[in-house]
Amino acid sequence: MKPIKKLFLYVLLTIYPVIAFSSNTWKDEMVYTPQATTFTLPFATNAKGIILRLYKEGQGGQPVKKVHMKINRDGLWQTTVKGDLKGMFYTFERKGDNLGESAGLFAKAVGVNGNRGAIVDMKETNPTDWDSDDPTTLRKKPLIIYEMHFRDFSIDPEANFQYPGKFLALQEPQAINHLKELGITAVHILPSFDYASVDETRLDEPQYNWGYDPKNYNVPEGSYSTNPYHPETRIREFKQMVKALHNAGIRVILDVVYNHTYDIRNSNFNKLYPGVFYRNKEDGTPSDGSGCGNETASERAEMRRFMRESVQYWVNEYHIDGFRFDLMGIHDSETMRLIRSDLNAIDPNIYIYGEGWSAGSCAYPQDQLAMKANVGKLPGVAAFSDELRDGLRGPFSDDHKGGFLAGIPGNEESIKFGIVGGIAHPDIDMAKVNYSKMPWALSPQQFISYVSCHDDMCLTDRLRASIPGIREDELIRLDLLAQTAVFTSQGVPFILAGEELLRTKQGVHNSYKSPDSINVIPWVNKKRYAAVFDYYKGLIALRKTLPVYDAETIRERLKFDNNVPTGVIAWSLQLPSKEQSLRVILNATKQTQTVTFPSSDITVYVENGKASDVPLRNDRNVKSVNVAPQSAMIFTLNKGIKAIYAK
Ligand code: CA
Repeated sequence: MKPIKKLFLYVLLTIYPVIAFSSNTWKDEMVYTPQATTFTLPFATNAKGIILRLYKEGQGGQPVKKVHMKINRDGLWQTTVKGDLKGMFYTFERKGDNLGESAGLFAKAVGVNGNRGAIVDMKETNPTDWDSDDPTTLRKKPLIIYEMHFRDFSIDPEANFQYPGKFLALQEPQAINHLKELGITAVHILPSFDYASVDETRLDEPQYNWGYDPKNYNVPEGSYSTNPYHPETRIREFKQMVKALHNAGIRVILDVVYNHTYDIRNSNFNKLYPGVFYRNKEDGTPSDGSGCGNETASERAEMRRFMRESVQYWVNEYHIDGFRFDLMGIHDSETMRLIRSDLNAIDPNIYIYGEGWSAGSCAYPQDQLAMKANVGKLPGVAAFSDELRDGLRGPFSDDHKGGFLAGIPGNEESIKFGIVGGIAHPDIDMAKVNYSKMPWALSPQQFISYVSCHDDMCLTDRLRASIPGIREDELIRLDLLAQTAVFTSQGVPFILAGEELLRTKQGVHNSYKSPDSINVIPWVNKKRYAAVFDYYKGLIALRKTLPVYDAETIRERLKFDNNVPTGVIAWSLQLPSKEQSLRVILNATKQTQTVTFPSSDITVYVENGKASDVPLRNDRNVKSVNVAPQSAMIFTLNKGIKAIYAK
């Protein structure tokens, strides 16, 4: 090659991409019109060439067309193919690098198993009443999160779903009615983008995975659709689900897993942009903050842009109301701030929360990651509280150790920290809080209150593991006591689906690929444990009537009793009416606790395994109440009355 030609190529491949940086968008990777389809790889790669292949099928067969893409004047690989390509499939491949074909980074539709992008007209994927779907009002209502997996929720044959394990199960009457009856206001669905670990061509065989192995971030998962071969189906069915939930007054929160991919070798990121999207350790090997073999590099312009566009795409195309960031502590804080700001421009009530930790050490400075301890610097971004969770049930590190529920002293301050929603509060001795020695939330809206989620044992299993020989009646009492702490916290309450039906995972801690027999939610329990369901329902209804204050008001109006016996946590909450204060008493001891006070009228909402938003009883001139063993009591007292606890 002549030197002058060499220089020209060098300019094309290295200088141009830098100039073109700011105008690149991922979401326009494939732009369809009936006249022509344009394919563009933004953030030009250093490839020797990019080959576009067009196929008739989503898998197998030979390409019907092969195009060598050209670098356009902005330095991007681009090509326009004339004609109506709707219904065809495509792949990109780097020339000469043997990295294989890719569906691209921002495929909006794919064939079976997500190996090829699909050319669809997105407008045609909208259900009939989609344009009328407007969740803006819904997003302002109190948030009560229900974390669920499609298959767990609807696979029980007893429940007789028409679409077991599918997106469409969630729009069936028994799903909608159950969720409305329970009273939750948001479903947080486990990974619902296209993931790799379930083979979509073998759906007649039982397969299960939580789905934390992303393949195509911007397409719904095929195994949850009724036809993974037909690209429009999964998209339309996902939207039908969203629409039905919105109609029922329920928000939809997506679990997003940008922190890692299924693997590096076969990821779309690496097939087209090798080395660009992942963090490496100093020795050049992949860093593994996810515990899944790799971690992405959100601080890099390409990954940051990708995440920002992807989140906005889910809101705009699918009307998603919130995002739960898996291992959010792997992402840099600046990216999370930018995502918050992007979503504020669409709707500030779109909720963002995440796991404020990583699974291993990250190749990035800890103080610049979106870790729980840094959430105070990220207004509008929330994190899960392991303080409250483990204070109640026992430490993450050992399933057989108990906490407050098991009657083990020393967990009270961790739970109190959870009750105020992770903010600074004068009644809490932070030195005695289990994991955090400093308050980390600026506002209780930044604090997710929970006792169990899909990870780890579910609540009943943890109670069985940590309290040997526990009887069923005791297990139920403690289960209800635990959720009373969650739902009286000023933070945002969150439950794992099926806890209201006393589900068990047969003691399996990490059930990410366990069979249905482990993960299934048993619907027969709705009748068998009707009192449990009624308590959850009553507690949620009560929660909706309780004030959730800002940080300053919590410090003024929420006061813990300091004269309580060991194993009891109690506080008063001044109600907005100011005439009465709410009393909450959590009694984890095996004794009845008698609480005395100067004569007062009382109205009881929670007592001895019953909970309701309408009073269980009203009594005048009462001087004491008895809180049953291992139970919670919630009632109102006349203003200014102090409770006295028997020692
Ligand atoms: Ca898939």
